[in-house]
Amino acid sequence: MRRRIASHYALIGGKLERDIIVEVDGNGLITSIWHTTALDATASVEFHPGILIPGMVNAHCHLELSYLKGAIEEGLGYGGFARAIGAVRGGFTDDRRIRAAEVADALMWQEGVEVVADIANDELVMGVKAKSKIEYHTMFEFFGLNNRDTEAHFAMASRHTRSTVTPHSTYSVQDAPFLKICQRNGGLLSLHFLESENEAALFNHSGALAEWYARMGWECDFLHYGSPARRVAEALSEGATQDRRVLLVHNTMATAEDVQRVEGAVANASWVLCPESNRYISRLTPPVAMLRIVGARITIGSDSLASARTLSLLDNLKLIDDVPLNELLTYATLNGAIALGVEDRKGSLEVGKAPGLVVIEGADLHNLRLTPESTSHRIA
Ligand SMILES: [Zn+2]
Repeated sequence: MRRRIASHYALIGGKLERDIIVEVDGNGLITSIWHTTALDATASVEFHPGILIPGMVNAHCHLELSYLKGAIEEGLGYGGFARAIGAVRGGFTDDRRIRAAEVADALMWQEGVEVVADIANDELVMGVKAKSKIEYHTMFEFFGLNNRDTEAHFAMASRHTRSTVTPHSTYSVQDAPFLKICQRNGGLLSLHFLESENEAALFNHSGALAEWYARMGWECDFLHYGSPARRVAEALSEGATQDRRVLLVHNTMATAEDVQRVEGAVANASWVLCPESNRYISRLTPPVAMLRIVGARITIGSDSLASARTLSLLDNLKLIDDVPLNELLTYATLNGAIALGVEDRKGSLEVGKAPGLVVIEGADLHNLRLTPESTSHRIA
Protein backbone atom coordinates (compact mmCIF):
# COMPACT_ATOMS: atom_id res chain seq x y z
CA MET A 1 0.00 0.00 0.00
CA ARG A 2 1.24 3.44 -0.86
CA ARG A 3 1.52 6.10 1.84
CA ARG A 4 1.81 9.83 1.40
CA ILE A 5 3.69 11.53 4.17
CA ALA A 6 4.26 15.18 5.07
CA SER A 7 5.85 17.20 7.89
CA HIS A 8 6.47 20.88 8.58
CA TYR A 9 9.87 20.53 6.91
CA ALA A 10 11.62 17.86 4.86
CA LEU A 11 15.35 17.44 4.18
CA ILE A 12 15.51 17.56 0.39
CA GLY A 13 18.73 18.04 -1.57
CA GLY A 14 20.54 19.10 1.59
CA LYS A 15 18.00 21.85 2.39
CA LEU A 16 15.05 22.04 4.77
CA GLU A 17 12.03 22.58 2.52
CA ARG A 18 8.41 23.29 3.42
CA ASP A 19 5.31 21.84 1.74
CA ILE A 20 6.81 18.53 0.69
CA ILE A 21 4.89 15.28 0.36
CA VAL A 22 6.78 12.02 0.02
CA GLU A 23 5.05 8.92 -1.34
CA VAL A 24 6.41 5.47 -0.51
CA ASP A 25 5.25 2.01 -1.59
CA GLY A 26 4.85 -1.01 0.68
CA ASN A 27 8.58 -1.74 0.45
CA GLY A 28 9.57 1.77 1.52
CA LEU A 29 10.63 2.73 -2.00
CA ILE A 30 10.04 6.45 -2.68
CA THR A 31 7.75 6.61 -5.71
CA SER A 32 7.02 10.36 -5.82
CA ILE A 33 7.95 13.63 -4.16
CA TRP A 34 5.70 16.69 -4.59
CA HIS A 35 5.31 20.21 -3.38
CA THR A 36 1.83 20.22 -1.80
CA THR A 37 0.51 22.89 -4.10
CA ALA A 38 0.89 20.45 -6.98
CA LEU A 39 -1.17 17.72 -5.32
CA ASP A 40 -4.88 16.97 -5.59
CA ALA A 41 -6.42 18.24 -2.34
CA THR A 42 -8.46 15.07 -1.91
CA ALA A 43 -5.38 12.82 -1.73
CA SER A 44 -4.98 11.39 1.74
CA VAL A 45 -1.78 12.55 3.39
CA GLU A 46 -0.40 11.54 6.81
CA PHE A 47 0.92 14.62 8.57
CA HIS A 48 3.72 14.11 11.11
CA PRO A 49 4.59 17.33 12.96
CA GLY A 50 8.31 18.12 12.81
CA ILE A 51 11.07 17.50 10.29
CA LEU A 52 11.01 14.60 7.84
CA ILE A 53 14.43 13.10 7.10
CA PRO A 54 15.69 9.88 5.52
CA GLY A 55 16.83 7.00 7.73
CA MET A 56 20.12 7.79 9.42
CA VAL A 57 23.56 6.20 9.03
CA ASN A 58 25.52 5.42 12.17
CA ALA A 59 29.08 5.53 10.88
CA HIS A 60 30.72 4.07 14.00
CA CYS A 61 29.25 1.64 16.48
CA HIS A 62 30.35 -1.36 18.55
CA LEU A 63 27.01 -3.15 18.99
CA GLU A 64 28.75 -6.04 20.79
CA LEU A 65 29.66 -3.72 23.71
CA SER A 66 26.04 -2.78 24.47
CA TYR A 67 26.13 -4.91 27.64
CA LEU A 68 28.57 -2.41 29.17
CA LYS A 69 25.96 0.35 29.37
CA GLY A 70 26.60 2.30 32.56
CA ALA A 71 29.42 -0.05 33.63
CA ILE A 72 32.25 2.45 33.17
CA GLU A 73 32.50 5.77 34.95
CA GLU A 74 32.54 8.98 32.92
CA GLY A 75 35.59 11.23 32.63
CA LEU A 76 38.35 8.65 33.16
CA GLY A 77 40.34 9.82 30.15
CA TYR A 78 41.35 7.43 27.38
CA GLY A 79 43.91 5.43 29.38
CA GLY A 80 41.56 5.08 32.36
CA PHE A 81 38.73 4.04 30.06
CA ALA A 82 40.85 1.35 28.38
CA ARG A 83 41.86 -0.06 31.79
CA ALA A 84 38.26 0.02 33.08
CA ILE A 85 36.88 -1.78 30.05
CA GLY A 86 39.51 -4.50 30.48
CA ALA A 87 38.49 -4.93 34.13
CA VAL A 88 34.71 -5.27 33.59
CA ARG A 89 34.63 -7.01 30.22
CA GLY A 90 34.80 -10.63 31.40
CA GLY A 91 31.99 -10.45 33.96
CA PHE A 92 28.96 -11.02 31.71
CA THR A 93 27.44 -14.14 30.16
CA ASP A 94 27.07 -14.55 26.40
CA ASP A 95 23.33 -14.56 26.85
CA ARG A 96 23.39 -11.21 28.63
CA ARG A 97 25.63 -9.76 25.94
CA ILE A 98 23.40 -10.96 23.12
CA ARG A 99 20.26 -9.62 24.81
CA ALA A 100 21.86 -6.22 25.35
CA ALA A 101 22.75 -6.08 21.63
CA GLU A 102 19.16 -6.99 20.69
CA VAL A 103 17.77 -4.19 22.86
CA ALA A 104 20.21 -1.62 21.47
CA ASP A 105 19.55 -2.74 17.89
CA ALA A 106 15.76 -2.49 18.31
CA LEU A 107 16.04 1.01 19.78
CA MET A 108 18.36 2.19 17.02
CA TRP A 109 15.83 0.99 14.44
CA GLN A 110 12.94 2.77 16.19
CA GLU A 111 14.98 5.96 16.43
CA GLY A 112 15.50 5.87 12.69
CA VAL A 113 18.91 4.31 12.03
CA GLU A 114 18.98 2.59 8.65
CA VAL A 115 22.62 1.56 8.14
CA VAL A 116 25.44 0.98 10.65
CA ALA A 117 29.22 0.67 10.28
CA ASP A 118 29.86 -1.70 13.16
CA ILE A 119 33.14 -2.79 14.72
CA ALA A 120 33.45 -6.36 15.97
CA ASN A 121 36.01 -8.40 17.87
CA ASP A 122 34.18 -11.71 17.70
CA GLU A 123 31.07 -13.25 16.14
CA LEU A 124 28.83 -13.30 19.22
CA VAL A 125 26.29 -10.71 18.05
CA MET A 126 26.55 -11.39 14.31
CA GLY A 127 23.23 -13.28 14.57
CA VAL A 128 21.55 -10.20 16.05
CA LYS A 129 22.80 -8.14 13.12
CA ALA A 130 21.76 -10.75 10.55
CA LYS A 131 18.18 -10.73 11.90
CA SER A 132 17.99 -6.95 12.29
CA LYS A 133 16.02 -4.65 9.99
CA ILE A 134 19.06 -2.38 10.08
CA GLU A 135 21.72 -2.95 7.40
CA TYR A 136 24.98 -3.63 9.21
CA HIS A 137 28.43 -3.41 7.65
CA THR A 138 30.80 -5.20 10.02
CA MET A 139 34.51 -4.60 10.32
CA PHE A 140 36.42 -7.14 12.41
CA GLU A 141 39.08 -5.04 14.09
CA PHE A 142 42.62 -6.31 14.28
CA PHE A 143 44.84 -5.10 17.10
CA GLY A 144 47.69 -6.08 19.38
CA LEU A 145 51.36 -5.28 18.99
CA ASN A 146 52.20 -8.97 19.53
CA ASN A 147 49.67 -10.15 16.99
CA ARG A 148 50.84 -10.57 13.40
CA ASP A 149 48.52 -13.28 12.11
CA THR A 150 45.52 -11.78 10.34
CA GLU A 151 44.04 -15.09 9.11
CA ALA A 152 41.54 -15.60 11.94
CA HIS A 153 40.09 -12.15 11.23
CA PHE A 154 39.77 -12.75 7.49
CA ALA A 155 38.16 -16.12 8.29
CA MET A 156 35.54 -14.40 10.48
CA ALA A 157 34.84 -11.81 7.78
CA SER A 158 34.44 -14.54 5.16
CA ARG A 159 31.65 -16.19 7.17
CA HIS A 160 29.36 -13.14 7.13
CA THR A 161 27.83 -10.84 4.55
CA ARG A 162 29.00 -7.23 4.28
CA SER A 163 32.02 -7.94 6.49
CA THR A 164 35.65 -6.89 6.21
CA VAL A 165 38.76 -6.66 8.37
CA THR A 166 40.17 -3.35 9.56
CA PRO A 167 43.18 -2.26 11.62
CA HIS A 168 42.03 -0.89 15.00
CA SER A 169 44.22 2.22 14.86
CA THR A 170 47.63 3.61 13.90
CA TYR A 171 49.11 2.86 17.34
CA SER A 172 48.00 -0.72 18.04
CA VAL A 173 48.97 -2.69 14.90
CA GLN A 174 52.47 -3.49 13.61
CA ASP A 175 53.53 -2.56 10.10
CA ALA A 176 53.14 -5.88 8.23
CA PRO A 177 49.60 -6.76 9.39
CA PHE A 178 48.50 -3.14 8.92
CA LEU A 179 49.68 -3.12 5.30
CA LYS A 180 48.34 -6.60 4.63
CA ILE A 181 44.86 -5.72 5.86
CA CYS A 182 44.78 -2.47 3.89
CA GLN A 183 45.90 -4.22 0.70
CA ARG A 184 43.64 -7.23 1.02
CA ASN A 185 40.54 -5.27 2.00
CA GLY A 186 39.67 -3.06 -0.96
CA GLY A 187 36.34 -2.04 0.57
CA LEU A 188 35.50 -0.43 3.87
CA LEU A 189 38.20 0.42 6.42
CA SER A 190 37.66 2.14 9.76
CA LEU A 191 40.46 3.47 11.95
CA HIS A 192 40.19 4.94 15.42
CA PHE A 193 42.19 8.08 14.71
CA LEU A 194 43.74 10.78 16.90
CA GLU A 195 41.37 10.24 19.81
CA SER A 196 44.00 11.30 22.35
CA GLU A 197 47.20 13.33 22.23
CA ASN A 198 49.19 10.18 23.07
CA GLU A 199 48.69 8.74 19.58
CA ALA A 200 50.77 11.42 17.87
CA ALA A 201 53.21 11.61 20.80
CA LEU A 202 53.98 7.88 20.40
CA PHE A 203 55.63 8.63 17.05
CA ASN A 204 57.99 10.97 18.96
CA HIS A 205 58.64 8.28 21.62
CA SER A 206 56.79 10.26 24.27
CA GLY A 207 53.47 10.32 26.11
CA ALA A 208 51.42 7.76 28.03
CA LEU A 209 51.19 5.18 25.23
CA ALA A 210 54.96 5.17 24.68
CA GLU A 211 55.51 4.81 28.44
CA TRP A 212 53.02 1.95 28.73
CA TYR A 213 54.54 0.08 25.77
CA ALA A 214 58.04 0.56 27.25
CA ARG A 215 56.86 -0.79 30.60
CA MET A 216 55.40 -3.86 28.90
CA GLY A 217 58.55 -4.34 26.78
CA TRP A 218 56.61 -3.91 23.53
CA GLU A 219 58.28 -2.35 20.53
CA CYS A 220 56.61 -0.63 17.59
CA ASP A 221 58.00 -1.20 14.10
CA PHE A 222 56.02 1.65 12.50
CA LEU A 223 57.29 4.80 14.19
CA HIS A 224 59.43 5.67 11.14
CA TYR A 225 56.25 6.96 9.47
CA GLY A 226 56.55 9.97 11.78
CA SER A 227 52.90 10.60 12.58
CA PRO A 228 49.51 8.84 12.54
CA ALA A 229 48.41 10.85 9.48
CA ARG A 230 51.58 10.00 7.54
CA ARG A 231 51.14 6.33 8.39
CA VAL A 232 47.58 6.31 7.07
CA ALA A 233 48.53 8.28 3.97
CA GLU A 234 51.41 5.95 3.09
CA ALA A 235 49.62 2.69 3.87
CA LEU A 236 46.48 3.60 1.96
CA SER A 237 47.86 5.41 -1.05
CA GLU A 238 49.19 2.23 -2.65
CA GLY A 239 46.97 -0.36 -4.25
CA ALA A 240 43.80 1.58 -3.53
CA THR A 241 40.73 0.46 -5.43
CA GLN A 242 37.75 2.47 -6.64
CA ASP A 243 35.61 0.89 -3.92
CA ARG A 244 37.91 1.81 -1.08
CA ARG A 245 36.14 3.88 1.58
CA VAL A 246 38.04 4.96 4.66
CA LEU A 247 36.42 6.06 7.91
CA LEU A 248 38.59 8.04 10.34
CA VAL A 249 36.91 7.93 13.71
CA HIS A 250 37.05 10.50 16.56
CA ASN A 251 39.70 12.96 15.28
CA THR A 252 39.49 14.97 18.50
CA MET A 253 43.22 15.82 18.32
CA ALA A 254 43.45 16.08 14.52
CA THR A 255 44.89 19.23 12.96
CA ALA A 256 44.04 20.66 9.55
CA GLU A 257 47.44 19.40 8.38
CA ASP A 258 46.59 15.84 9.48
CA VAL A 259 43.27 15.95 7.65
CA GLN A 260 44.79 17.38 4.48
CA ARG A 261 47.59 14.83 4.50
CA VAL A 262 45.11 11.95 4.65
CA GLU A 263 42.77 13.56 2.11
CA GLY A 264 45.71 14.02 -0.25
CA ALA A 265 46.43 10.29 -0.27
CA VAL A 266 43.02 8.68 0.22
CA ALA A 267 40.38 9.38 -2.41
CA ASN A 268 37.30 8.60 -0.34
CA ALA A 269 37.93 9.53 3.28
CA SER A 270 35.18 10.37 5.76
CA TRP A 271 35.60 11.92 9.18
CA VAL A 272 33.40 10.24 11.75
CA LEU A 273 32.63 12.22 14.88
CA CYS A 274 31.35 10.63 18.10
CA PRO A 275 30.80 13.67 20.36
CA GLU A 276 28.94 11.78 23.11
CA SER A 277 31.74 9.23 23.45
CA ASN A 278 34.36 12.00 23.54
CA ARG A 279 32.39 13.82 26.20
CA TYR A 280 31.98 10.60 28.20
CA ILE A 281 35.62 9.53 28.11
CA SER A 282 37.73 12.64 27.94
CA ARG A 283 35.50 15.75 27.92
CA LEU A 284 37.06 16.60 24.56
CA THR A 285 35.02 17.90 21.62
CA PRO A 286 35.58 17.00 17.98
CA PRO A 287 37.07 19.69 15.69
CA VAL A 288 33.93 20.48 13.72
CA ALA A 289 34.91 24.03 12.75
CA MET A 290 38.29 22.91 11.37
CA LEU A 291 36.78 20.02 9.40
CA ARG A 292 34.22 22.40 7.87
CA ILE A 293 36.94 24.87 6.88
CA VAL A 294 39.02 22.24 5.10
CA GLY A 295 35.90 20.83 3.43
CA ALA A 296 36.13 17.33 4.92
CA ARG A 297 33.10 15.03 4.79
CA ILE A 298 31.73 14.89 8.34
CA THR A 299 29.69 11.90 9.47
CA ILE A 300 28.32 10.85 12.86
CA GLY A 301 28.83 7.71 14.91
CA SER A 302 27.50 6.64 18.27
CA ASP A 303 30.50 4.60 19.43
CA SER A 304 29.40 2.01 22.02
CA LEU A 305 27.27 2.02 25.15
CA ALA A 306 30.51 1.44 27.08
CA SER A 307 31.32 5.11 26.43
CA ALA A 308 27.94 6.70 25.68
CA ARG A 309 24.69 7.14 27.55
CA THR A 310 22.83 6.54 24.31
CA LEU A 311 23.37 5.35 20.73
CA SER A 312 20.99 8.07 19.47
CA LEU A 313 22.51 9.95 16.55
CA LEU A 314 20.22 12.88 17.33
CA ASP A 315 21.66 13.09 20.86
CA ASN A 316 25.12 13.19 19.26
CA LEU A 317 24.06 15.98 16.90
CA LYS A 318 22.79 18.01 19.88
CA LEU A 319 26.38 18.17 21.15
CA ILE A 320 27.56 19.99 18.00
CA ASP A 321 27.19 23.79 18.11
CA ASP A 322 27.17 26.43 15.42
CA VAL A 323 26.26 24.27 12.44
CA PRO A 324 23.04 24.98 10.49
CA LEU A 325 20.44 22.26 11.07
CA ASN A 326 20.20 21.18 7.42
CA GLU A 327 23.97 20.59 7.35
CA LEU A 328 23.91 18.81 10.71
CA LEU A 329 21.19 16.45 9.50
CA THR A 330 23.19 15.76 6.34
CA TYR A 331 26.10 14.52 8.49
CA ALA A 332 23.83 11.81 9.91
CA THR A 333 22.19 10.89 6.60
CA LEU A 334 23.69 11.43 3.13
CA ASN A 335 27.28 11.91 4.32
CA GLY A 336 27.11 8.64 6.23
CA ALA A 337 25.63 6.87 3.21
CA ILE A 338 28.47 8.13 0.99
CA ALA A 339 31.01 7.13 3.65
CA LEU A 340 29.72 3.55 3.53
CA GLY A 341 29.16 3.45 -0.22
CA VAL A 342 25.37 3.01 -0.02
CA GLU A 343 24.34 6.44 -1.35
CA ASP A 344 22.70 4.86 -4.41
CA ARG A 345 20.02 3.36 -2.10
CA LYS A 346 20.14 5.25 1.20
CA GLY A 347 20.79 8.62 2.82
CA SER A 348 18.43 11.02 1.04
CA LEU A 349 14.79 11.56 0.13
CA GLU A 350 14.88 10.84 -3.60
CA VAL A 351 12.60 8.94 -5.94
CA GLY A 352 13.97 5.43 -6.49
CA LYS A 353 15.67 5.15 -3.10
CA ALA A 354 14.33 3.25 -0.09
CA PRO A 355 16.11 5.24 2.61
CA GLY A 356 13.60 4.82 5.47
CA LEU A 357 11.54 7.76 6.71
CA VAL A 358 12.14 9.41 10.06
CA VAL A 359 10.51 12.35 11.83
CA ILE A 360 12.32 14.63 14.24
CA GLU A 361 9.92 15.93 16.88
CA GLY A 362 10.47 18.65 19.43
CA ALA A 363 12.85 20.76 17.34
CA ASP A 364 12.62 24.56 17.41
CA LEU A 365 10.97 25.05 14.02
CA HIS A 366 11.16 28.86 14.13
CA ASN A 367 14.92 29.01 14.51
CA LEU A 368 15.55 25.58 12.95
CA ARG A 369 17.53 24.22 15.86
CA LEU A 370 17.52 20.99 17.83
CA THR A 371 16.47 21.35 21.46
CA PRO A 372 17.30 19.09 24.42
CA GLU A 373 13.80 17.61 24.00
CA SER A 374 14.19 16.74 20.30
CA THR A 375 13.65 13.06 19.47
CA SER A 376 13.65 10.99 16.29
CA HIS A 377 11.11 8.30 15.35
CA ARG A 378 10.93 5.98 12.38
CA ILE A 379 7.67 6.19 10.46
CA ALA A 380 8.60 4.01 7.47
ZN1 LIG B 1 35.18 2.82 18.53
